[in-house]
Amino acid sequence: MRAAVVRRPGPIETTPLVVETREPPWPGPGQVRLRVRACGVCHTDLHVAEGDLPPRRAGVVPGHQIVADVDALGDGADPALAGARVGVTWLAWTCGMCAACRRGEENLCPRARFTGYDTDGGFAEVAVADAGFVIPLPRDLAAEAAAPLLCAGVIGYRALRVAGVQSGERLGLYGFGASAHLAIQVARHWRCEVGVVTRGAGHQGLAEALGAAWVGEPGARPPEAFDRAVVFAPSGALVVEALRAVRPGGVVAINAVTMDAIPAMPYELLYGERTLRTVSHLTRADARAFIALAAEISLRAEIEVFGLVEVNEALRRLKRRELRAAAVLRP
Ligand SMILES: [Zn+2]
Ligand SMILES: [Zn+2]
Repeated sequence: MRAAVVRRPGPIETTPLVVETREPPWPGPGQVRLRVRACGVCHTDLHVAEGDLPPRRAGVVPGHQIVADVDALGDGADPALAGARVGVTWLAWTCGMCAACRRGEENLCPRARFTGYDTDGGFAEVAVADAGFVIPLPRDLAAEAAAPLLCAGVIGYRALRVAGVQSGERLGLYGFGASAHLAIQVARHWRCEVGVVTRGAGHQGLAEALGAAWVGEPGARPPEAFDRAVVFAPSGALVVEALRAVRPGGVVAINAVTMDAIPAMPYELLYGERTLRTVSHLTRADARAFIALAAEISLRAEIEVFGLVEVNEALRRLKRRELRAAAVLRP
């Protein structure tokens, strides 16, 4: 099989990913083998390729938004999975026994292992995954369009839940990339009035097309205060802007793995029982709930499809913010 491998992590301009031919992996106990149909490309894959995330597995295959068909079962894997169309997310495995796992917060498990980081991921023709961590997908979702739902989509959905978004509320979205363009469709389904703060005519036009009631450049103030806001762009200044735009009692959720420093701000922006929260990836329950909702409301992902050999190019364009929405590899 062919796989895109991080041989030596470094700036994406140095093409750190190399497409190699490998023996296809065989599923171990409790695992399934996957024929990869499509795999989404995420900022975290860029951090793995560039070494911003300290390497944990030499020659790792990135990719954690895998749409695949199960083509072999390891010992003990659920026989019902044979031939099934499934999705694999960033969450490859959790211990199931720690306090976080027992609270249902497996996204906070300190022993969690991650797809395309601790384990080989989906930038390959074949992969293996823990049978208990694959998410069944409806057959009528096209593979390429389903891939970005598995990280960008699920985590955007979790961010809306963490922010406590209620039907009919006013919601602000700060930054408008792969995750936000899916979250806005969920929020519109919940009859929320959505304002979007983002740079660039392309993203602003897409936000309007997807039903944003108001669109502004960073620095612009919405005509009315938001009840909740989600910050998607890794900009601390936008966190302060979002706090300034939410009403007393409102919530700002940060959906970014890394972020530049949040500038000093007057206490009054937080006073008035405003809440500032972060979102740490996802649980399997989030993924199942979101996939069911996405199928029900025919949620549409804007995608650009790349071949496996174009993996460095896809990541380069992601880094330069040249993608209109989500990049997807078709191995
Ligand atoms: Zn991701
Ligand atoms: Zn745990």
